[in-house]
Amino acid sequence: MADPGVVVIGAGMAGLVSALQLAARGLPVTVVEAASAPGGKIRQLAVNGAPIDSGPTVFTLRWIFDEVLASVGTRLEDEVRITPLSVLARHFWDPALAAAGAGVAAGTAGEPARLDLFADPRASQDAVARFAGPDEARRFAAFCAQAREVYATLEGPFIRSTSPTMGRMIGDLGLRGLSVLSRLGPMRSLWDSLGRHFTDPRLRQLFGRYATYCGSSPWEAPATLMLIAQVEMDGVWAVEGGMHALARMLERLARAQGVTFRYGTACARIELQGGRVSGVHLANGERLGAQRVVFNGDIAALHAGLLGDSARAAAPRVGPRSLSAVTWSMHTRAEGLALDRHNVFFTGDYRSEFTDIFGQGRLPRRPTVYLCAQDRGTGVPDTGAPQRLLALVNAPAVGGQGRLTSEALDECEHQTFSLLRRCGLTLQPQARESVRTTPDDFHRLFPGTGGALYGQATHGWNSAFARSPAASPVPGLFLAGGSVHPGPGVPMAAMSGQLAAAAVMASLGSTSASRPAATSGGMSTPSATTGSTA
Ligand SMILES: Cc1cc2nc3c(=O)[nH]c(=O)nc-3n(C[C@H](O)[C@H](O)[C@H](O)COP(=O)(O)OP(=O)(O)OC[C@H]3O[C@@H](n4cnc5c(N)ncnc54)[C@H](O)[C@@H]3O)c2cc1C
Repeated sequence: MADPGVVVIGAGMAGLVSALQLAARGLPVTVVEAASAPGGKIRQLAVNGAPIDSGPTVFTLRWIFDEVLASVGTRLEDEVRITPLSVLARHFWDPALAAAGAGVAAGTAGEPARLDLFADPRASQDAVARFAGPDEARRFAAFCAQAREVYATLEGPFIRSTSPTMGRMIGDLGLRGLSVLSRLGPMRSLWDSLGRHFTDPRLRQLFGRYATYCGSSPWEAPATLMLIAQVEMDGVWAVEGGMHALARMLERLARAQGVTFRYGTACARIELQGGRVSGVHLANGERLGAQRVVFNGDIAALHAGLLGDSARAAAPRVGPRSLSAVTWSMHTRAEGLALDRHNVFFTGDYRSEFTDIFGQGRLPRRPTVYLCAQDRGTGVPDTGAPQRLLALVNAPAVGGQGRLTSEALDECEHQTFSLLRRCGLTLQPQARESVRTTPDDFHRLFPGTGGALYGQATHGWNSAFARSPAASPVPGLFLAGGSVHPGPGVPMAAMSGQLAAAAVMASLGSTSASRPAATSGGMSTPSATTGSTA
């Protein structure tokens, strides 16, 4: 009997990469996606007709995309226009902290203290020296060296590994890698470890924030997450057309390989016969036969039985939820403060943000604000015209529980925009012209998550090993996305999509996938080789 092919549930980053690579290897692939467009969290919202990137905005680890595209015979720079950013991020501190004598130096004349980090490490070190003095700049250089070592140590044994376990990783690390980790103190929290590097509390706060890239608290995340600093120092890129252009590009390449996309099509149930996958049932009542299914939603949905009782076995455990967010997508004038593309506004008592969110399950009373100014950073001058902005604050993943009242959300909005104003930024007009997205909205968009945007939190030294691998315990059901190994973030999800495609191919008994050759105007693919049905 002919193999009915693979169904990919979800056109998020990992689903797109899996679909592309499986089709390029000759498998018939259908993607069913509940939303009306590809990308999942990589979504754009139109405000006043302007498309605003309203999900991820920081594009890093481009080598993962270079590999994905090379696997189908093309190159990232041939498919999208990307520009390296010279300023990685601009950081401001609430001037009210200095006024209150919180031990934080202000800038001049009541302006917020400001620190830019640059793609050029020497420029960053000089900036830290001006900001916090030469001793702190030396400590910054030592921190960067350690982050580089940790990244180099973990890229192979963890990020690229199909299914890392503590035992396997110890074997793969070798003596050198083990000594890097033992110097770091692998059981230490990121916050603890940063306290050994920096004496200026603002630098500890700045680098502690990297834990939130995995939806985690710096107080609970392992020190190894300092590798995210290295990830940024390796380069941050701007994508023309926004991050959403990456999803569109992958969809276009996948279509060229023969993938069928069905949007507005939710999968209601994964069907099993004789203990293995036999198809999917769509919310519209239709059934698609498939011996292999790649699930790109959050595995918390499988665990909760949202894809049917029998598919629950694919996600026997899910860890504590990661961060959610409240976001404001805006098209507005931004005056009074020189923004770069990625801007972070810090306030005092960083710890309270995480005790509010993870301890109390409430919105932070004093949120850190991330502001992406999508029209800045690539050399286009600021003419004072309305620009595209996304503001984001961290929030608890309590979506769908009716716990976040509109009063609480309005208060959070007030705190968010008051901090921006105190730092000198005037947004005109403000919230009227913005679209707010809350944990309840994220929960609706990403079922089973509570609005958590990064799967399970990376809390505790062994949490990285608690993520499911691509091959689930249910034969024929494969997992891909930010809730499984190697973790959240656009590039990690892309890596997970590759790992899922490889696991599907391995289940066919054919890992010797032939590479298709690029032809002008598209790809030539090998003929289907799906005879075996493992
Ligand atoms: C506001 C925000 C900011 C972020 N910032 C960054 C950043 O700057 N840099 C970065 O690298 N990462 C960032 N992230 C994280 C990053 O976006 C995600 O980790 C990554 O995009 C997740 O990809 P994924 O493959 O897990 O798929 P997802 O994006 O989770 O998509 C899953 C898809 O599956 C679909 N689906 C689920 N269930 C079903 C079903 N039953 N039937 C049909 N379809 C279904 C959903 O509709 C969705 O389209 C951010 C995320 C958000 C939301």
